[in-house]
Amino acid sequence: MSKNKSSESVKVVVRCRPLNRKEESNGPAGCIVQMDLRLGQVILRNPRAPASEPQKTFTFDAVYDANSKQGDLYDESVRPLIDSVLAGFNGTIFAYGQTGTGKTYTMQGAWMDPEKRGVIPNAFDHIFTHISRSQSDKQYLVRASYLEIYLEEVLDLLDPNHGNARALELRESPESGVYVRDLTSCVCKSIKEIEEVMNVGNQARAVAATDMNEHSSRSHALFLITVECSQPGPDGRKHIRVGRLNLVDLAGSERQAKTGVQGERLKEAAKINLSLSALGNVISALADGRSGHVPYRDSKLTRLLQDSLGGNAKTVMVATLGPAPQHYDETLTTLRYANRAKNIQNQPRVNEDPKDALLREFQMEIARLRAQLNHRKWRTKQKKEQVDGEGWERDGDEETEGEEDEEEGVEKDAEEYVKLEEQRLEREKQDIREDQFMLAEEKQRLLGEKEKMMGVLRKEQEATEQLTAKYKAMESKLLVGGKNIIDHTNEQQKMLEGKRHEIAEQTRSEREIQQQMLVRDDETVELRETFTSLQQEVEAKTKKLKKLYAKLQCIKAEIQDVNDEHVRSRQELEQTQNELTRELKFKYLIIENFIPPEEKNKIMNRLTFDPEEDQWKFQPLVRAESKSSSQMKKRPASAVGYKRPISQYARVAIAMGAHSRYRAENIMFLELDMTPPNSASLDRSAESEPNQSHSLDNSPTKDRSVRKSRSWCQTPKSITSSSSNVSLAACHTATPMTAQ
Ligand code: ADP
Ligand code: MG
Repeated sequence: MSKNKSSESVKVVVRCRPLNRKEESNGPAGCIVQMDLRLGQVILRNPRAPASEPQKTFTFDAVYDANSKQGDLYDESVRPLIDSVLAGFNGTIFAYGQTGTGKTYTMQGAWMDPEKRGVIPNAFDHIFTHISRSQSDKQYLVRASYLEIYLEEVLDLLDPNHGNARALELRESPESGVYVRDLTSCVCKSIKEIEEVMNVGNQARAVAATDMNEHSSRSHALFLITVECSQPGPDGRKHIRVGRLNLVDLAGSERQAKTGVQGERLKEAAKINLSLSALGNVISALADGRSGHVPYRDSKLTRLLQDSLGGNAKTVMVATLGPAPQHYDETLTTLRYANRAKNIQNQPRVNEDPKDALLREFQMEIARLRAQLNHRKWRTKQKKEQVDGEGWERDGDEETEGEEDEEEGVEKDAEEYVKLEEQRLEREKQDIREDQFMLAEEKQRLLGEKEKMMGVLRKEQEATEQLTAKYKAMESKLLVGGKNIIDHTNEQQKMLEGKRHEIAEQTRSEREIQQQMLVRDDETVELRETFTSLQQEVEAKTKKLKKLYAKLQCIKAEIQDVNDEHVRSRQELEQTQNELTRELKFKYLIIENFIPPEEKNKIMNRLTFDPEEDQWKFQPLVRAESKSSSQMKKRPASAVGYKRPISQYARVAIAMGAHSRYRAENIMFLELDMTPPNSASLDRSAESEPNQSHSLDNSPTKDRSVRKSRSWCQTPKSITSSSSNVSLAACHTATPMTAQ
């Protein structure tokens, strides 16, 4: 199944947006980010530090400054990835950065302006152009889904009732890794259709954004495209390759203030950053390569991106930065985050012939429909033969050769047959009508028969038409390579693209060489120098010492920064922990003091933790075992000495002789109590005569004296029957619970 087992690292590119109008008013000096496009370096200046402090430098696979074009980023950093997806690899592009730094701009951009179209629309163009240009023996199926993760809930953006839809569950299969159960997936046949899917999802997001404050910057949006391609292999069989592409616009990476909030707001704030901090932890665990455990399961996002980080995928991370000084801390955090991600190693491989390929199902369904259709048509053709009484030249066996032509012939025959049959029936009807020797009744009967035959014929025809329509609809969903080649084979354009690709490749390799040279330079500086005098050697060594000292200072500052950051995040975590502990204590207090222990135990015994969904769940009340289910269905048998069936529980309770509730089962067991009635309660009962039994039933807390006084005043019957009913009902409902 795997073709290419070699590992490759996550590609990290950084993009800095231009200063916006507000920031521009601070003047160009306000810009803290500098970029060396040739070397792929970002140089960050700390606006609060003295000028003497060395600036921080980070090196990436590519960097894009404020003047960069959407097309540049796409051609150089994204195009190779999409090509891989089309070849059957999994691919992921995610945009990471603070809110307002251009994540959505990079991923989506301005759709209307061709210059400003982002990664997603460009990928649509790329995929469908590739399909239309590919060879005609290839069949493609393209599907798209769109989801968002908000407050750790996965929501389907293509679900028509997005607003009320429940959160979706994540599942894992050995074939396709982690996936979202019941996620809507739309088959797309053209750029227009896939754009429509994107628009529907974006509208759903926009609606949510008006409902919830800052929704879009707090939710992660994932657009998923699956491209399945079937192509005949050297063995003559059709092989399917499946490429999955995840286009991810992450929530803003800035820290959410958690101090001072409580209850729901606290949980919300804790959840917002959960996915991102889990993503950070996953990246750290993968990057240092020492810790065996990678905490993918800590959040929905990391589970969904499991393959993209350290697994079977090619991944590009676009880290976006803002150039303004007030965001220095966030910018630095983003750069550190991105710098760490560079070290992640993935093992991408081609997904060949997976069991769950939808394309295969489609192909099978199309073949089935075609067989059904052919069968129908052959039947009609044969009927036509009978009608015509003619022999057919074609041999029934030659099905494989010229199948298409033959099919067309059969189709024509079938249509002809229907037409002829209709004409024949019409003629016969006419004859019957004109027959003067026939009785009117007979005529009516024969006409009715003919009418019926016409009806059957029409129904058949309708069924065939429906089948044909279904077949055509299914077939049209599969895209066949080379179909629109005339529209697209603008050879020049193809060449231009090829050249652009080459240039991008060249720039990349040039940059890599430059970066390597820079590293080697430092190492070999000593080797290149030959010293003529001691004095010269001292000078050279002093120079080197200075250089190394500066480097040391840089690293020290870095360590200090990282430590500070750790302390900060630790403090924040502790604070959250304190708040959550307080909340927990509050809940405990309620549970311990206001919920009866047996109820609590019952609930606790039924609860099980579902690691798949990361939630506690109730076990069903009745076990699925056949024995217990039959017990449930069976009514308790009548016991000797009792008037009606009685539950085991009640029987035990009676044997214990403790509780009056069960004693009331048989009126004969009730002792008459001769104590005089309590006048107050008698008066009250007299007043509320019509509601008497009702008030009794509803007031189990009423004291014994009331019960006794009733038995004294000779109305025990109603009491016993009602109370025994109640007790029995309680026992019946109690039985399954206690059986648990
Ligand atoms: P985010 O999604 O990270 O919160 P946006 O993509 O919404 O940020 O960008 C914020 C603003 O900055 C938008 O008005 C966008 O047009 C602008 N912007 C971002 N990046 C660029 C860029 N590279 N060039 C021009 N404008 C940009
Ligand atoms: Mg955004």
